[in-house]
Amino acid sequence: MDLLTLLFENKIENHVCFPPTIQSSWLAEGVLQLLPQRSPQVQLSSSQENFADTLIISAGIHGNETAPVEMLIQLLSQLAQGKLPLQHNLLLIFGNLSAMYAGQRYIDHDLNRMFSGRYQNFPLGNESKRARVLESVIRQFFSEPAVMASTKYRHFDLHTAIRGSCHEQFALLPYQAREYAADFLQWLEQSDLDALVFHNSVGGTFSHFTSEHFNVDSCTLEIGKALPFGQNDLARFSNITTALQDLLAGLPSGRRAKPALERYRVVDAIIKQHASFQLNIPEETKNFTELPSGFEIARQQHQSWKIESPANFILFPNAHVAVGLRAGLLLEKLTSSIHKTASRRGG
Ligand SMILES: [Zn+2]
Repeated sequence: MDLLTLLFENKIENHVCFPPTIQSSWLAEGVLQLLPQRSPQVQLSSSQENFADTLIISAGIHGNETAPVEMLIQLLSQLAQGKLPLQHNLLLIFGNLSAMYAGQRYIDHDLNRMFSGRYQNFPLGNESKRARVLESVIRQFFSEPAVMASTKYRHFDLHTAIRGSCHEQFALLPYQAREYAADFLQWLEQSDLDALVFHNSVGGTFSHFTSEHFNVDSCTLEIGKALPFGQNDLARFSNITTALQDLLAGLPSGRRAKPALERYRVVDAIIKQHASFQLNIPEETKNFTELPSGFEIARQQHQSWKIESPANFILFPNAHVAVGLRAGLLLEKLTSSIHKTASRRGG
């Protein structure tokens, strides 16, 4: 049986073994903790680093975003076979198992709006239960002595976009009051992402949760468009896979091969608050499409959103969200000097 089937049937725990250099434990269904076991000699002789860094890689928080799940399965399998050495503490998370199995974004509600306790505002259902479990396993992982001894923490929450995008691969960085870590931003740049987007307010996403509560360098990584399980061409995402493999193995990241990375800042969120809500752009409008100043992008009872320069770029436009949820983000493009100011202000 393949690993994905074993995962869905909750049998993977009994079928996958790791080399003696890795201590493995399943903290919950679909959540695997892997800690490198270093020999005492290595610890004594290693002058470079006495403590491992800590990494969290999650996928399938949205169940229909299949390519990242296949990537995670691939990493898990390489680690188990000893083909990929592990230098850092690692938590692998398969997010929304029921929705993955059903091939849907979610079963009851969007899991990636429920973190930092927001699940309590939702009726008990598949996702509110899962958000509670995931928050609890993250807390458990951070109480692990090896993890507490780390000095560097990173979380990559892997997603794929619903629509096409002018920048195919991009990272969304949660709002944080502290400065974004330079080496983390550099890693994203060297991984050949096309763009970074800095949030301007806190949210209920998984990456916000680990950033806000555990001071982790976190991001939501949008790696491209996904197809149903088994139909993805993982070669299209090989830059991300290679960057993650190198990171796990403690190897330096490669040199950037793509044109310069673009940076954006969220300026406004379009929130659907009424059934009269309408979005005035076609369904298939790509992410990061530039819109003219003065254009009325959305309206609902007593409210209208007009594009005002420099917030001319639209991200995640979606008129079909539930009332109360975000129907799009308006972005401003940053130059590196603007970004420094923005991040000092917490942007
Ligand atoms: Zn997603």
